[in-house]
Amino acid sequence: MHTAVVTPKGARRWAAGHPWIFRSDVAERPGVEAGTVRVQDERGKPLGVALWSPTSEISLRLLDRNPEATIDAAWWRDAIDRATARRTGLDRETNAFRLVHGEGDGLPSLVVDRYDRWLVVQLMSAGLEQHREDVVAALRDTLAPAGILARNDVSLRAKEGLATSVELLHGEVPEEIEVQEHGVKYLAAPWGGQKTGAFLDQRDNRALAGQHARGRALDCFSYHGSFALHLARRSEHVVALDVSAQALRRAEENFRRNEFTNGEFVEADAFEYLKARERDRTRFDTIVLDPPAFAKTKASLPAAIRGYKEINLRAMRLLSPGGTLFTASCSFHLSRSLFLEMLHSAAADSGRQMILREITGQPRDHPEVITIPETGYLKGALLAAE
Ligand code: SAH
Repeated sequence: MHTAVVTPKGARRWAAGHPWIFRSDVAERPGVEAGTVRVQDERGKPLGVALWSPTSEISLRLLDRNPEATIDAAWWRDAIDRATARRTGLDRETNAFRLVHGEGDGLPSLVVDRYDRWLVVQLMSAGLEQHREDVVAALRDTLAPAGILARNDVSLRAKEGLATSVELLHGEVPEEIEVQEHGVKYLAAPWGGQKTGAFLDQRDNRALAGQHARGRALDCFSYHGSFALHLARRSEHVVALDVSAQALRRAEENFRRNEFTNGEFVEADAFEYLKARERDRTRFDTIVLDPPAFAKTKASLPAAIRGYKEINLRAMRLLSPGGTLFTASCSFHLSRSLFLEMLHSAAADSGRQMILREITGQPRDHPEVITIPETGYLKGALLAAE
């Protein structure tokens, strides 16, 4: 195996619990293409084994602190077994969950989502791509899936010099898979849906919003209606709103699948819709806001905060007394404290007294490691209006 030498700053990152070493902290590059390399400091002290990405800003991703480790199919099997063990019991709540959350599970740049008997994977670094066969073999050995699909159509791969594609790696994977989640069912779309086919990270938040739902409910940014389904169980009427007509067709299908008849599907821009409802003085007892990431880059953060504030402020004004708002942000760049600051500012301008009932994050299958901020991105808050 070849060796990379890293600067003291690079070594300190690993010592402080973060698995990445950037290009500027590689003192001597290993003389190989992408793959696995040993890493040592400038004094020759071995630090571990890492994935090596020659073209990426993130040059080295820690795999094993044991410098003697051999990264073969058996190593991947052990790692996947450990990730599976962290999720023991989850299959009682759902048949779809994240099995490997990349850096959060010590397997940098690898995502594996399980949908019933099928797996959807994402290989997001040049170093990892070299291990594709061993990873697939380990997944087949440990989980015996009916099929494995690679959703490698993510832009991150371009930074690694990798092609983007959707590719079947093993067996067969259907166009639609029924997900069971805390008592409701919906269809995931592994080949073409967002992310790997569904937003698995909101599972617990959907159940929480469902528990507090009543009366007239509104699910903005509904996608396939997953929050709306949970609201439908306890409310009289649910408006599922999205700009995408195609997403709403799936939401309707999902309502039929659950035999819910209290859904209304509205194709509209959420900003416009909320403004119009404020004008005609409509009131809702339950509102969910689960927008796409408004802050895709750090530079777009100020504009994103204005957007988040606007929808939250309007939603607060639309709540009936005693009404509930569940609001979320999946922008990594909007930290938990900025999210709360934004809510504070929205509440202050809304003229309503809002009580913070719960602050939520990611479910247990999306582990957020506190020394690796990039593993955490989802924030939620449950608020009650006086
Ligand atoms: N709540 C969903 C995930 C939402 S993803 C779940 O739990 O599965 C974000 C959704 O917002 C997408 O479906 C997208 O079409 C929709 N969207 C984006 N911009 C919008 C806008 N301005 N108004 C309404 N919907 C929008």
